[in-house]
Amino acid sequence: MRDPRHDILFTPLQIGPKTAKNRFYQVPHCNGGGYRDPSAVVEMRRTKAEGGWGVIFTEQTEIHPTSEITPFIEQHLWDDRDIPALSRMAEAMKSHGALAGIQLAYSGINGPNLYSREVPLAVTGGPILTFTSDPVQARTMDKEDIRNLRRWFRNAFRRSHQAGFDLICLYGAHGFGILQHFLSRATNHRTDEYGGDLTNRARFLREIVEDARETTKGELAVTLRMSLHEAGAYGFSNAELRDFIAMHADLPDLWDLAQGTWEACSGTSRFKPEGAQEDLVRGIKELTPKPVVGVGRFTSPDAMVRQIKSGILDFIGAARPSIADPFLPKKVLDGAYEDIRECIGCNICVSGDMTGGISRCTQNTAFMEEWRKGWHPERARPKGASRSVLIVGAGPTGLEAALQAAKRGYTVTLAEATTTLGGRVARERLLPGLSAWGRVADYRTGQLAPMPNVEIYRDSPLTPDDILAMGADHVAIATGATWRRDAVARLHLHPIPTDPAMTVYTPDDLMAGRSPKGLTVALYDDDHFYMGSVLAELLVQNDNRVHLITPAAKVAEWTDNTLEQGSIMRRLLDLGVGIHLSKAPEVIGKAEITLGCTWTGRQTALACEAVIHVTSRTPNDQLYHATKALDWQASGLKTLRLVGDAAAPGPIAWATYAGRTWAESLDQPGQVDALTFRREIAALDPGPTLLP
Ligand code: ADP
Ligand code: SF4
Repeated sequence: MRDPRHDILFTPLQIGPKTAKNRFYQVPHCNGGGYRDPSAVVEMRRTKAEGGWGVIFTEQTEIHPTSEITPFIEQHLWDDRDIPALSRMAEAMKSHGALAGIQLAYSGINGPNLYSREVPLAVTGGPILTFTSDPVQARTMDKEDIRNLRRWFRNAFRRSHQAGFDLICLYGAHGFGILQHFLSRATNHRTDEYGGDLTNRARFLREIVEDARETTKGELAVTLRMSLHEAGAYGFSNAELRDFIAMHADLPDLWDLAQGTWEACSGTSRFKPEGAQEDLVRGIKELTPKPVVGVGRFTSPDAMVRQIKSGILDFIGAARPSIADPFLPKKVLDGAYEDIRECIGCNICVSGDMTGGISRCTQNTAFMEEWRKGWHPERARPKGASRSVLIVGAGPTGLEAALQAAKRGYTVTLAEATTTLGGRVARERLLPGLSAWGRVADYRTGQLAPMPNVEIYRDSPLTPDDILAMGADHVAIATGATWRRDAVARLHLHPIPTDPAMTVYTPDDLMAGRSPKGLTVALYDDDHFYMGSVLAELLVQNDNRVHLITPAAKVAEWTDNTLEQGSIMRRLLDLGVGIHLSKAPEVIGKAEITLGCTWTGRQTALACEAVIHVTSRTPNDQLYHATKALDWQASGLKTLRLVGDAAAPGPIAWATYAGRTWAESLDQPGQVDALTFRREIAALDPGPTLLP
């Protein structure tokens, strides 16, 4: 039964000419698929519609080729040929009564145009402000360019209308949208009527909101996605935003407020708690009669209700919580609180966009596989002919494998060597800042517990003979991986000379409570994700003087993809961690290590009393190979598979995905050499190969 205090989340609310059925508002978010994978994106959004969201948005939709952000894959609305894919998207969004929204973007000083090769146009010209420092400058727009831009927006409004959307979101947040570039004194140095005081800087915005209303005959709602605070002496600050909203209280049909940079807005749980933007949003609702939406990685219905009841927000904005659980609204509606699959705030989803891959989610293994593989975040395909499965190891892989196989209807036995379920997340959740990682285990153990077809054995390290004796039809070995102690990873492909008198620790030692205390320690990070910096924090907590050494040019360099690199660097500097970039240990002596510069080979000595290697992991695949060496088929076993970290160590999201892939593959032989997912191939243009 739903708690009646949550009823307010299901009261409809008007947004201009449209009415949202509830307060669950999926704000625009990228997905790494965009124009390249139209059907995959359509089905992802359809799943959210089914899950009960009141408003669902597209990702950034680029309105004109003079502004695009390749290599990031978003949507295009460049000409009428882009309408069918977006029309299908709008139809999917509306399939269960949600309002369909399109976010229109023109990136100005933020778009390098690496694909279209057009000269970038900006409010004020200058180097393109991408974090990849693209060697490209934008030209300052003259009045004709501004008139053109208004026409391009009008074309986009018409096309959005034609595609069937209900809402248009004008993007002016995160430093990415040209609307913010007009408003901000940092990016607007103009001396004409579009520059200078706030009234002038807001002129373009007023003009295009009017254009939007006129072009769509007032039939579509117009929302503004604004930055809550842009830092820096000239940034569009929270105070200025409030002035702007007070001056234009009735301008849009809704205010959509997001923090200044994407990094600040989408901080990981390690650096940002739920509801982190509250101080920046509080009071804005009093400046305007129009509804306000804000984000905050909200997964708790109590926290959502508080935002509405205390007059901070009207709509609960969500990107990541809607990715981790597209059925969040429906679960709250039904009072199925224990079924909510909470986002862990890891930003693996963001990394899909950042790397030009396709997004994935640690918690929701079906994300972006709804169309490609026919996976669903809630429903499972019925089981096949065989009956029972045995899964060895209850880490993220084993837990997801067990859950998905159980949902399909198999009789599931899950055996875990230790007394704790969760494997690596049971250990990592105890590290500084990583407590939310525990949700990976909590959600799955919570779901498995009441299932009648599941037996879980703790404290049960299985041997090959045990496995065969259990008589399951299918066995998955998900026994995880162990951190290496010999510095082997990317730079060193073989162990380095190490004096046995030096104590060398691995992350597994530290997670098991075996940590140096009060020593000078050298932490070698050739892993480049979160573990090195997290352990540096733990070592500081344990009163050690910490040196972090990495062959990369910056610490935790892969965390650029999870928007954490800057926060990690700041935290390490604040903690007084000594940072040694572009260096790696070459020899480990008994009281010092010899560091080599990765560019020049020049050597320096660093005195230390202990070494921690955060390098790579060895798969725990002995059990698999020992079982495979037996006559396992004779014992009735149909398949024996090695899955997750035990096969190929990777991030937690790779492990949950591996667990699901295994469970989905049961009794699905497939065709030899056939692709395991659907994809779309661009249609060839029938015209001549060369322009006349
Ligand atoms: P993954 O990320 O692939 O799930 P983890 O390392 O998190 O890998 O989890 C592996 C789990 O397997 C651990 O909880 C570990 O205790 C368990 N395990 C390892 N060997 C055995 C075994 N022989 N029998 C049962 N469980 C095992
Ligand atoms: Fe949340 Fe991580 Fe999933 Fe993104 S990948 S939605 S941050 S759990």
